[in-house]
Amino acid sequence: MSETTTAPDCIFCRIVAEQLPADIVDRSDHAIAFRDLNPQAPVHVLVIPRRHIENAATVQDTDAAVVADMIVMARRVATSEGVADSGYRLVFNVGDDATNTVPHLHLHVVGGRALSWPPG
Ligand code: AMP
Ligand code: ZN
Repeated sequence: MSETTTAPDCIFCRIVAEQLPADIVDRSDHAIAFRDLNPQAPVHVLVIPRRHIENAATVQDTDAAVVADMIVMARRVATSEGVADSGYRLVFNVGDDATNTVPHLHLHVVGGRALSWPPG
């Protein structure tokens, strides 16, 4: 069963609703994955819940299945994008210091080059 979106003015909800274009690379009942418009590495995909959740700090116990689905999808994306063996980074940005710009939960899947740590 697909989940419906709850915030029609949200750009990621509009991508879920197919009202905005996106290069979608994976889909499940709870989540979709699409390429970031401004990639920071050769592989940069965003995994988002179909249902509007604002960010990782507002995730509730009742979202557990959705978040698990997102992490499983991220692993699948890493495999299909060819970075499962070389390594990749999964990132949830929260708040201004982390430069979170889109208020719809999204898991960055970043890889395809050596990534520095700590991040900038
Ligand atoms: P964050 O800084 O964690 O909020 O990341 C938001 C990400 O969404 C950025 O990496 C943007 O490049 C990306 N982004 C914004 N709008 C779109 C869009 N319409 N399609 C794909 N990626 C987008
Ligand atoms: Zn949304």
